[in-house]
Amino acid sequence: MVDYDPRTSTGIPTEPVGSMPRPAKLQEAYAAYDEGKIDKAALEAEQEAAVDDTLARYEATGAPIISDGEQRWSSFATYPITDTLAGTGLAPSLGPGGQFFAIFADGHGRQLPKLVKGPFEYVNYAADSLKKSIGKTRTPMKQAVIAPSMLALLYPLRDPVEGYSREDFEAKLIDECEKDIRLAFDAGAARVSVDFTEGRLATREDPRNPWTGAGLLPHFIELINGVMARFSPEERTKIGIHTCPGGDRDSVHSADVPYNNLLPEMFKINAGYFLIQLASEREKDPVYESIGEHLRTDADGVRQMAYLGVINPGNPRVESAEEVADRLVRAADFIDRQQIGSTDDCGFSPFSIDEKPNHGSPDYAREVAFQKITNRVAGTRMAAERLGVS
Ligand SMILES: [Zn+2]
Repeated sequence: MVDYDPRTSTGIPTEPVGSMPRPAKLQEAYAAYDEGKIDKAALEAEQEAAVDDTLARYEATGAPIISDGEQRWSSFATYPITDTLAGTGLAPSLGPGGQFFAIFADGHGRQLPKLVKGPFEYVNYAADSLKKSIGKTRTPMKQAVIAPSMLALLYPLRDPVEGYSREDFEAKLIDECEKDIRLAFDAGAARVSVDFTEGRLATREDPRNPWTGAGLLPHFIELINGVMARFSPEERTKIGIHTCPGGDRDSVHSADVPYNNLLPEMFKINAGYFLIQLASEREKDPVYESIGEHLRTDADGVRQMAYLGVINPGNPRVESAEEVADRLVRAADFIDRQQIGSTDDCGFSPFSIDEKPNHGSPDYAREVAFQKITNRVAGTRMAAERLGVS
């Protein structure tokens, strides 16, 4: 593990979630690759160019910790199982036509593949792409990975898979998530966060999407704690959990679900820190209050940190540094200032194919995202000075 002190440059720690919009040119290359018009080497050359651009612009924000923007991934949830969203490079145990992960507020959905046979294993680990990126920058890097609870949705809700029980599948998911995290640390990640967007969605009870009404939240938390139990308290200070109401095509899937369906349960996860969507929340004080109440000082040996969302990736309006600082200072009325960090509400484009309609284009959305991150960092530093946190 690399040495990284999250307070060094900003006093209050600040960290992104992970993804960046893929440049239009890269999105076109994904489509051409799916159609067989270009080969994998040509796709990888575009991914490489997008990573180079992402890292250079990330460094220019002054952020103490950055990511490669997941430019080589099909999505935050599907990178271990397929090379592209259209299914090129799909894991051999999977087939098309699984459950909808989510149906978003604008009406579009994202469907998962489904498990058709055992045994299951990842075809890509997060470290595979991190290894290609980490030598390109001297700024510490974080890595996001997907939670076992998301991939549990690959197993059909009602029909068992012949010869491969749900229990066997889920035990394998815990093993694979542990491996994904360890390989990322081995590759040099300073911190690893686990994407848990399905947490809030799990209490939505959307009749169009049956798994959301199946009461799965406690089980999801059990699965993630199965992963956490594999790590020491020291390791878990560097392992986070990300919650959000989704982010795709500038739309959300569970912003209307009461946050308190999730928050008291979520902090039962024995992770060291949480990246919590909040900037796009209409009523922020009750959320700060709930976090202050439920954030734990001893989660199986770690003192939890709450990284509060101060940037909304779905809205092109750039938050000012003062606004970021004001929000963090306000949050300190409810949450111990030593347990506060800052983050973006979500990745800026969790899925590789995303036209970012509120922004007009993915290329413009990239410009906006880096301005937002610059202000997140500056505003966090201002808040640390005002609160006397160093
Ligand atoms: Zn998110």
